[in-house]
Amino acid sequence: MITINHFINGKYVAPGGGEYLDGFNPATGEVFTKIANGTAHDVQMAVDAAKSALPAWKAMPAEDRFRILNAIAEGIETHIDELALAESRDQGKPLWLSKSEMQRASQNFRFFATAAVQFASESHQTDTRAINYTLRQPVGIVGCISPWNLPLYLFTWKIAPALAAGNCVVAKPSEFTPLTAHLLCEIANKAGLPPGVLNVVHGLGSTCGQAIVEHPEIKAISFTGGTATGKHIASVAAPMFKKLSLELGGKNPNIIFDDADLTEAVKTSVRSSFLNQGEICLCGSRVFVHTGVYDAFKSALLQEVVKMQVGDPFDDKTRVGAIVSKPHFEKVLSYIDLARQEGGTILCGGQEVKPAGFENGWFIAPTIIEGLSAACRTNTEEIFGPVITLIPFETEEEVLEMANGTAYGLAATLWTSDLKRAHRMAEALQSGIVWVNCWLLRDLRTPFGGVKQSGVGREGGWEAMRFFTEPKNVCIAY
Ligand code: NAD
Repeated sequence: MITINHFINGKYVAPGGGEYLDGFNPATGEVFTKIANGTAHDVQMAVDAAKSALPAWKAMPAEDRFRILNAIAEGIETHIDELALAESRDQGKPLWLSKSEMQRASQNFRFFATAAVQFASESHQTDTRAINYTLRQPVGIVGCISPWNLPLYLFTWKIAPALAAGNCVVAKPSEFTPLTAHLLCEIANKAGLPPGVLNVVHGLGSTCGQAIVEHPEIKAISFTGGTATGKHIASVAAPMFKKLSLELGGKNPNIIFDDADLTEAVKTSVRSSFLNQGEICLCGSRVFVHTGVYDAFKSALLQEVVKMQVGDPFDDKTRVGAIVSKPHFEKVLSYIDLARQEGGTILCGGQEVKPAGFENGWFIAPTIIEGLSAACRTNTEEIFGPVITLIPFETEEEVLEMANGTAYGLAATLWTSDLKRAHRMAEALQSGIVWVNCWLLRDLRTPFGGVKQSGVGREGGWEAMRFFTEPKNVCIAY
C-alpha cells in the first residue's frame, strides 16, 4: 500500500484530521493507495508555508529560477519509467501513453523555465510627455486544481508557469489520480526548489479543493475540470475578486468533408475519438461526415476500431485501457443506454469488457453510434469516455449550425483539402481551438482554452505568464 501524504514546506506531512481516502487501480478495482483526506486546516498550513517562502522566491533572479525549474524537467525525465508506471496504475491508461505524457510533463517545466528568463513587458511612450512601462509582478500565492484525465501532464501545465512567474503555489491534484503529483514533490526537492514554494495538498474537491478556492490569501485560481465544478468555483471566487482561469468540459466536433484525405482522416479520427479511453477534453466526440463519403468513412473507421485491444494497461498492444473510476465507468455506460433510448444504433462496442485477468476492472469497448439527431442529449452533453456518434451532413451551413449547437466550445477539428473552406470554417466555428487536417498537434506557445461553457481565460505561452502576474502601469513624466 502506498501512502500519499501532503507536501508542505518541503516535507511530506500526514493530514491533520488523520483521515485517508482509498485510491483504486482502475484496471483491477483494487485499492493500492491511501490518500490524505485534506481539510481547511491542512490548506492553512500550506498557505502559511507559501507565505514564508514568497519573498525570497519572487526576489530570486530569473536565471536561478530557470535553473531550478529546468532541473525539475530533468528530474522528471530521469524518472520517466517510474512515473509512467505510477500514472497507468493510478489512472488506467496504457503505459505507452503514460510515457509520452511524462515527456510532456517534463517539457512543460522546460518550456516555462525558459519563459522565466524570456518574459518581458511593454512600454508606451506618451508623445513627448511621459514614458509608461508595465511591471509584471507575481500574483503572490496561487491555487492550482487539476483533474484526473491527464494527471501529471495537466498538473505541471499549471504549476510550471505559476512558479516561473515567481508565485508560491498551493496545488491539489484529483483525488482519483494523486500519485504522480506526490512523486513529483520529491523530484522538486532534489532539484533544489526551496521549501514552501510548491505545496501539494490532497483530498476531496468539496472540502480540500473548496478550502483552496475560499482562502482569502490565495489570490488566483487556475482550475481544470468539469463545467459544473467550474461554475461553482467561479461563484465562490468571483465575489472575492480572485483572478480565475477555468478550463472546462467539451463536446467537440470532428468534421469530415467529402474532399478530405480519407485515409488520414480515418487514422487520426481513431485517435481523436478513443485516445486515453476518450477521456481527453479535446477528443472529437461528435463526428460529422459529409453524405458523399459517409459510408466509406464509416466502414473504414469501424474496421480500425473493432481491432482496438481493450485491457491490460501494461500490454504494449493495448489501445484502450481502463476507465478511471467506478462512478465514471457507470456514467459512461448510462450514456450508452441513453443513446439507445434516444433511438441510436450501436455500430460497435456499446458494453463493458472483462479482459482475462482484469475481470474486476472498469473497461468499456470503444463505441460508435449513429442515427441520432444533433440536438439530442447524447449529442449535446459531455460523456468523456470511449463513445462517439456519427452524424451525416450535406452543406457547410448545416454542419456549422450543428457543430456550434452545444453549450461548449473547446476544440474543433476539420478535414478538407479546400483552403478557402478551411479559413471560412475556422473563422465561424465557436471554439477556442480549431485543428485543420490534424488533431492534438500542440505548440506550447499557443493560447489554449475554450469559449462558451468550455471555460474562461487561456493557458499556454505568454497567456499563462500573464495570468500568473499582475500588470502595474508606471507613468513617468519626462
Ligand atoms: P472535476 O470538476 O470533478 O474535478 C476537477 C478537480 O476539481 C479535482 O481536483 C477535484 O477534486 C476538484 N474539485 C471538485 N470540486 C471542487 C470544489 N468545490 N472546489 C475546488 N475544487 C474542486 O473534474 P474531473 O472529473 O476531475 O475531470 C473531468 C473534466 O475535466 C471533464 O469535464 C473534462 O472535459 C475537463 N477537462 C478540461 C480540460 C481543458 O483543458 N478544458 C482538460 C482536461 C479535463
